[in-house]
Amino acid sequence: MTTRKSGILFVVSGPSGAGKGTVCKALMERRPELCLSVSVTTRAPRPGEVHGVNYFFETENTFEAMIANQELLEWAKVYDNYYGTPRSFVETKLAAGYDVLLEIDIQGAMQVKQTYPDGVFIFLIPPSATELEARILGRGTETEESFQKRFGAARHELQMMKEYNYVVVNDVVEAACQRVEAIIEAEHCSVSRNLYLLSEW
Ligand code: ADP
Ligand code: 5GP
Repeated sequence: MTTRKSGILFVVSGPSGAGKGTVCKALMERRPELCLSVSVTTRAPRPGEVHGVNYFFETENTFEAMIANQELLEWAKVYDNYYGTPRSFVETKLAAGYDVLLEIDIQGAMQVKQTYPDGVFIFLIPPSATELEARILGRGTETEESFQKRFGAARHELQMMKEYNYVVVNDVVEAACQRVEAIIEAEHCSVSRNLYLLSEW
């Protein structure tokens, strides 16, 4: 029987442009006690992005060495760049009883599901294809080619929803954030995560 309550791993993923970054940022403002994992990437920083805050920006050589040394919990090539989650941060925080939040792509989420089957997998989707198109274009970060790749992948990616525990429609950021918070609260109340209470009684 579980004797101590360890942290819960929450994984937010979904198609590019669904609003994962936006919703996770808002969530961190509302729940600063969540530990947001900072990923490693080989892509170049965008204006305003800071090493160690938004990502750890590394070379391909460094990234490949991290894979070889099993320093990454999961990794994937997403739109021509490598992205991965540092393993030690996640393991340390969970063991210390803190909840950890990962904001990663679908390929990465499926890898994490193998390692942490009791993680909570949340699929974030935009309210419509038209809105997704507007968001990817509105972000102003894509070329025509990269827009086509992201938008084209979304239809196939939506099918992956079935692999997740929860789906959250990101219509209004505040509302989507509240839904994720409700999921966090509910998971903390799940019987399987609270069996240690029996031994305490
Ligand atoms: P992702 O991380 O899933 O690729 P982003 O968080 O970068 O998506 O969001 C894509 C764009 O959509 C950004 O310009 C962001 O400001 C905008 N956006 C995100 N959520 C909403 C929302 N609920 N309503 C309107 N715009 C949104
Ligand atoms: P961006 O370059 O726009 O910051 O992120 C591109 C995509 O990579 C997004 O879908 C984002 O969720 C995903 N991503 C960010 N970090 C990681 C990670 O550590 N692992 C995986 N698999 N995907 C990530």
